[in-house]
Amino acid sequence: AAMYAAKTAGGSCWRFFMPELLEKTTEDTIMINNLHRALEENEFFLQYQPQFTADGSKLAGFEALIRWKSQKYGLVSPGKFIPLAERSWLINKIGEWVLAEGCRFAQKLAQLGHEEIKVAINISPRQIKMNNFVDNVRQIIDAAHVFAPQIEIEVTESMIMENLDANIPKLETLQKDGMNLALDDFGTGFSSLTYLRTLPVNYLKIDKSFIDKIAISETQVKLVATIIELGHALGMKIVAEGVEAEEQLVKIQECGCDYVQGYVFGKPLSEEAAVALCKQYDK
Ligand code: C2E
Ligand code: MG
Ligand code: MG
Ligand code: MG
Repeated sequence: AAMYAAKTAGGSCWRFFMPELLEKTTEDTIMINNLHRALEENEFFLQYQPQFTADGSKLAGFEALIRWKSQKYGLVSPGKFIPLAERSWLINKIGEWVLAEGCRFAQKLAQLGHEEIKVAINISPRQIKMNNFVDNVRQIIDAAHVFAPQIEIEVTESMIMENLDANIPKLETLQKDGMNLALDDFGTGFSSLTYLRTLPVNYLKIDKSFIDKIAISETQVKLVATIIELGHALGMKIVAEGVEAEEQLVKIQECGCDYVQGYVFGKPLSEEAAVALCKQYDK
């Protein structure tokens, strides 16, 4: 790639940049502008991926996953637009919308008699950083008339670790309110075992990258079994994420995992399909 050197205005330092990088930046800026309009234009919606007990006999809950149906780009995955939204306060607006929408869904399930079915909601690093994070969550839950134990809040290790002293009390408050806390993508961050013990966490979600090789590597089975044992020793329940194949499911069951979320049991669903699934399992 060609490299250009540019002298910054009035300065004496030389900066290097690549045209591809510039192009990507412009493209990102356009997408961010579109993202700002997406809330007003109702372009976001949630899908709900079922979580089952590891034997598949019982539906335990759903993880709410945001989708963007953009006028300009079509369906955009959160892996692409959440990182862009996270660059600014926009993620807080989107985060509030997700929480409110997820709570509305939870309330609907409760009204239909499925109040034992949990709804898990992903929180961004910028959201938890806000001074009014806890009040915000409480207000949204109250406004939706939803019972706190039906709501699960998903955070990542790296996010908590960024500011342990401020974040732990926030999460503890939500937990005392009755909410469930899940540690998402577990194993991909800096898992300091010292801190893990002190985190207010009800569920450990083992990242998909640990599940991927479980059917072909005995070492991987041992590693996952050890993580599960550790979590159990700390009083947590374990969720395996991204279980796709039957052979992986068998291994994860042998390891003593409590819950499974993955294509082997079901992909993210529309609200209607999620409600239908609740009815089907409510017997
Ligand atoms: P995550 O929270 O770890 O969510 C799990 C992701 O794994 C979802 O991708 C889900 O569709 C996918 N998945 C589940 N089971 C399987 C499987 O068996 N195979 C494969 N290949 N994938 C599986 P998705 O919906 O694309 O979301 C990606 C990430 O975007 C999420 O990872 C989360 O970090 C973020 N995200 C999604 N919705 C929200 C949201 O409402 N707020 C925030 N802040 N982040 C969100
Ligand atoms: Mg998640
Ligand atoms: Mg995850
Ligand atoms: Mg993940």
